[in-house]
Formats: sequence, structure tokens, C-alpha cells
Amino acid sequence: MDRTVLLGLIGEGIAASRTPRMHETEGDVHGIRTLYRTLDVTAPRRREASLAELLTAARLTGFDGLNITHPFKQQVLELLDEVDPGAATIGSVNTVVIAEDGTTTGHNTDVTGFARGFAEGLENARTERVVQIGAGGAGRAVAFALSSLGVGELVIADTSAERAEALAADIGSGVRAISTDVLGPAIVSADGIVNATPVGMAAFPGTPFDTDLLEADKWVADVVYFPLETQLLKEARAKGCRTLDGSGMAVNQAVDAFELFTGVRASATRMRATFLSFGA
Ligand code: NAD
Repeated sequence: MDRTVLLGLIGEGIAASRTPRMHETEGDVHGIRTLYRTLDVTAPRRREASLAELLTAARLTGFDGLNITHPFKQQVLELLDEVDPGAATIGSVNTVVIAEDGTTTGHNTDVTGFARGFAEGLENARTERVVQIGAGGAGRAVAFALSSLGVGELVIADTSAERAEALAADIGSGVRAISTDVLGPAIVSADGIVNATPVGMAAFPGTPFDTDLLEADKWVADVVYFPLETQLLKEARAKGCRTLDGSGMAVNQAVDAFELFTGVRASATRMRATFLSFGA
């Protein structure tokens, strides 16, 4: 191996992230020695560190790239030298490329990652009318991705009406926010539903809506990937619905980030195998 790349992930509570292993394994296959470190702000040695300090430290110590996760995806924009137009429109960056001269450029591969995961996992799904629940960090990327895929009408609900309205306004045409009070009728008339809330994770058990509203002709996607088999997806499958779990977005965002970091196209199949090797 004659090339080494040093990468990192900045975020909170990321010790169990599967992203480092996906990049390191893929790098090995391409003959690129890939070192990927988690820079967890909750680790004792970083408790006093700000995002700006971590970014500077990474630049000075020779990192070639960073992934940025919760809660820094919005905050990081103002600290970067350049932001690509797509990420600037969304107002969220999950990938930072650090050039040889230290210049930092932000990108958003959550959007492209969700879009490709969706196109592959729910091929030919009807998307005349889609309901999305959750307008937080992941929800913003999902809504921009769905919009880029040509969804007819995208309806967004969030317990924070303000957040749903702001996201709908940022995307504009073909997207509107609704109150969670009218989620039921919206689901009944939808082709498909995306959960972009944390509901379904161990810490937030349950489903984000009553699954009795589902019929077999609807598809259901979930961004939660821990666990992969959420209660929502399990109940949707039992109703005969096509489903898409959160691994598509998680794997494909890494595929696109790897290419930005190294200039080499990664294999989604191999990265998925690494992702799944951690268990469901
Ligand atoms: P977040 O806190 O930024 O946003 C969650 C949003 O959901 C908030 O706006 C909140 O008000 C809303 N919400 C919560 N419960 C709700 C409910 N019952 N009904 C309506 N709205 C509700 O969180 P996030 O960073 O967007 O993460 C959400 C989930 O997505 C997490 O489980 C996270 O692990 C997952 N995620 C997955 C990927 C992936 O690649 N698959 C990427 C990022 C995040």
C-alpha cells in the first residue's frame, strides 16, 4: 500500500458507529491504507473541545477528510472554507474534504445516499403522494432526496410544527407541512410513508403512527438503523407492504463519502456487508 488516508467522524455518542469499519475495509480492498478515527465530543479527553477546535486539530494533524454527525451537521457550515451548492441549499454537511493545503469543503452525502438507497431498495415504487414523519437532521436530507427523485406531493409532519413548516418552505414547490393531528388521513391517501423520527429505536419504542392505517399497496421506509427491523417495518411487512430499512441511507452515504475522500468509487455491496457484519 503506497497511499494512506486519515479520516474521522465528529459527533456525540458515536463510539458504536459502523462508519469507521466501512471505510477502513473498503480502503484495504483498494490498496489504500485507511485510518478512520471517531472524534467523540463526549469522550473524556474532548469534553472541553468545541467543533471549531476539533476541525482545526484535524486540519493541522493531517486528516484528509471528516464525516460530521449529530449535533454538528448545521453548525459546521460556517466553519468551512467552501460548501458545495447542494449542501449549502440543504444547510447541512455530513462530509468534509480537507485538501493538501488545508482548505475544507463541505458536502452532503446523506441526500444522495438516501436517494440511491431508495431507488435501489424500492424500485418502481409509486411516489405520487408521500408522507414523511420527522423534519430533524435526517428528515431534512430525506425530504431533499425525495424531492430530487420527483415525488409528486410530499407531505411532512413533525411534532414540532415549526420544523416541518421550515423544511417545507426551504424545498418549496410540491412540499407542504401538515399537523400531526391529520397524519391519519394523510397516510390513508399516501402511496408511501417515510419515518424520519427516532421512534423505533430502543430508547424510543413504538411506531410513529397507527399501523392499522396501512394497506398492502403502500410502501414504508424507515431511516432508523438500530435496530434495522423496527416495529414499524415489522408491522408494515405483516400487512404486505414493501419496506426499506435504514441501512440503504447509512451505506450509500458512506459510499459517496469514500469517493469524495479518495477519488475511488466504493462498492455498495461490500460496504453493506461490512455494515451488516455488526449484526442487525
Ligand atoms: P432529530 O432529533 O434531529 O430529528 C427528529 C425529529 O423527529 C424531530 O424534529 C422531532 O420533533 C421529530 N419527532 C420525534 N418523534 C416524533 C413523532 N412521534 N411524531 C412526529 N415527529 C416526531 O434526529 P435525527 O438526527 O433526524 O435522527 C432521527 C433518526 O434517524 C435516528 O434514529 C437516527 O439514528 C436516524 N438516522 C439514520 C441515518 C441513516 O443513515 N439511516 C442517518 C441519520 C440519522
